[in-house]
Amino acid sequence: MAYFTPHTLEWFKALGAINSLQAAATKQILDLAGKPDVCGNCGDAPANDYVVVGVKFDLKTDATIRLCSDCRDIRSKMHGESFSHLNSKTPDLKTAAQRAETTIKTQWKTVAKYYTVGWMGPIEVVEAQYSHISQSIATIKNNISYNLPIVIFQSRESPPKSIITAIPYKNLDGNPYNCRLAITSKLSQEKVRLLNDFSQAFWFLIDNELLPSPRSGDELERKIIEWCGKSLIRC
Ligand SMILES: [Zn+2]
Repeated sequence: MAYFTPHTLEWFKALGAINSLQAAATKQILDLAGKPDVCGNCGDAPANDYVVVGVKFDLKTDATIRLCSDCRDIRSKMHGESFSHLNSKTPDLKTAAQRAETTIKTQWKTVAKYYTVGWMGPIEVVEAQYSHISQSIATIKNNISYNLPIVIFQSRESPPKSIITAIPYKNLDGNPYNCRLAITSKLSQEKVRLLNDFSQAFWFLIDNELLPSPRSGDELERKIIEWCGKSLIRC
């Protein structure tokens, strides 16, 4: 796979073609910093060059980015992006995978306190069963990550008082792990963050084959029980 060195003319052209806003913002940062050898997000130095894992500028070119370590960490957390060092042979996938696994293994207890977790797909089937999601997905309908399952969180009363549906979709950069939550009743910011983090880690691990595919029988369910315990997925 080819790539462009961040902040070069060809790189700006490639980024501009898929995300003109980000290209313009980066240009402004570099102008303010007065040099290209800085973080494209905040203008700080030192900054490193990364391949954005799973994102492409076009069919033949991996997306690349120059970031300081703070911005890299923030983007990983906020957008679920993962980065591998541009010039290193061992990609950063391992770190991202470890982080995702830790998220599932530590946050499931908080999730399980309020909800049971299930997964379904494709979106048409989910929409037929949970009509409340139609409005929430209207603006992302063409960008839904079809290869990933929809995560369903049901509150623990029977029947559940609240059902939250987490739908994965691609943003302009092509990152497929963005999370749209369709809710039936209001959620606190902490719960939004919790369910976002949990869903994104779940999708990342499935997409990178570190968790079994939901299409391979009950293997995924077995693995989740092994990692988290039965109470997460059963009432
Ligand atoms: Zn930065």
